[in-house]
Amino acid sequence: MKKIKMTTPLVEMDGDEMTRILWKMIKDELLIPFVDLKTEYYDLGLPEREKTRDQVTVDSANATKKYGVAVKCATITPNKQRVEEYNLTEMWKSPNGTIRAILDGTVFRAPILIDSIKPAVRNWKKPITIARHAYGDVYKSTEYRVEGTGKAELVFTGDDGTSFRETIYNFECGGVLQGQYNKDSSIISFAHSCFQYAINTKQDLWFATKDTISKKYDQTFKLIFQDIYDNNYKAKFEELGIEYFYTLIDDAVARVIRSEGGYIWACKNYDGDVMSDMVSTAFGSLAMMTSVLVSPDGNYEYEAAHGTVTRHYYRYLKGEDTSTNPMATIYAWSGALRKRGELDNLPELVNFADKLEEACIDTLNDGIMTKDLVGLVSEGYEAHAVNSIGFIKAIRERLEAKLA
Ligand code: NAP
Ligand code: MG
Repeated sequence: MKKIKMTTPLVEMDGDEMTRILWKMIKDELLIPFVDLKTEYYDLGLPEREKTRDQVTVDSANATKKYGVAVKCATITPNKQRVEEYNLTEMWKSPNGTIRAILDGTVFRAPILIDSIKPAVRNWKKPITIARHAYGDVYKSTEYRVEGTGKAELVFTGDDGTSFRETIYNFECGGVLQGQYNKDSSIISFAHSCFQYAINTKQDLWFATKDTISKKYDQTFKLIFQDIYDNNYKAKFEELGIEYFYTLIDDAVARVIRSEGGYIWACKNYDGDVMSDMVSTAFGSLAMMTSVLVSPDGNYEYEAAHGTVTRHYYRYLKGEDTSTNPMATIYAWSGALRKRGELDNLPELVNFADKLEEACIDTLNDGIMTKDLVGLVSEGYEAHAVNSIGFIKAIRERLEAKLA
């Protein structure tokens, strides 16, 4: 078989633990035999981050800005225990955080659906995509533990001499304090990414915050979205027959549960963090959740939503058989290859990405699954569990037949 050509390299970000093992299996079995794979390789595995003092992460993000498309394996975000385990000189920051800060993006997460696994919410028929603003708020907050009585104030000192000071609370006992911020520039980017993604995928866009309570902070998000919609995207939305609407977060939650899916739900940073776990679990499994970071200037970084599956890795190291689900990681590759194909006008590469995803779905529909999914299958469907490599080989058989 003649291998499919690529013209521009993909930025390849390798990772850690079990997903690093899957990464190699996927490349060896599902990509290299079919595609003349061109990548610029960055090893974001923890040992290499330690060795380069995390420069490799920064370099990989900058390469994404240069080439426009990246595919990332899950990586360890070090904590105290990891510092000891890997003998680290520093508790390196979350690679995803570093990459997001450089690309200034929005994270879109969508579940992969199959007939035999019914969502926990009966009326959900189509995927719900969560768009999470990946900047600021509680993730960049300053906190203080109040131990005694005293006055807490909110103070702003402008470079132009303006100033603002207001009492937050007069503490008569111990308590807690937190200062959060966001920036117009980041909210504007968030809004553009959401509207563009809605247009690209031809889906409605919902946006929800708590502006009735947060009359300045959340209100700013609401106003910026509306302004950008009215001035830049309204005509295109109407032409495509898709809708943008804003609603309160509590109303959105109720509507989401009653809906049949098939739209994008844009959330502030914390809401997106929480809601994406709820939505992915209700659709079936974290291992079936795809994720892409889209920057406002049109760079894409594809990954799986789950982590490095540490528990399985420790079993793997002991020589035990593991049945780790590679679906979301395969879809990270297919998503990145499809985007590369679209940008470089390579229909064969786009077709390969489509066929790879079809082969995955066919394998699952034939009842061949990893362990995590077998337990979720509805009555009336048959399924049996295979190990990771067995699952990948079953996909390969189907992919070969499709491409023959
Ligand atoms: P995790 O790796 O997502 O795994 C949590 C549990 O979910 C697993 O133990 C497993 O359950 C199940 N699971 C997740 N993905 C699966 C898959 N593909 N196939 C089968 N089961 C799967 O989360 P974690 O254990 O909290 O974190 C592990 C490491 O990943 C941490 O060091 C964290 O920093 C990192 N992390 C990275 C990213 C990222 O790079 N984007 C995201 C999250 C976490 P069972 O053990 O019950 O089978
Ligand atoms: Mg989370």
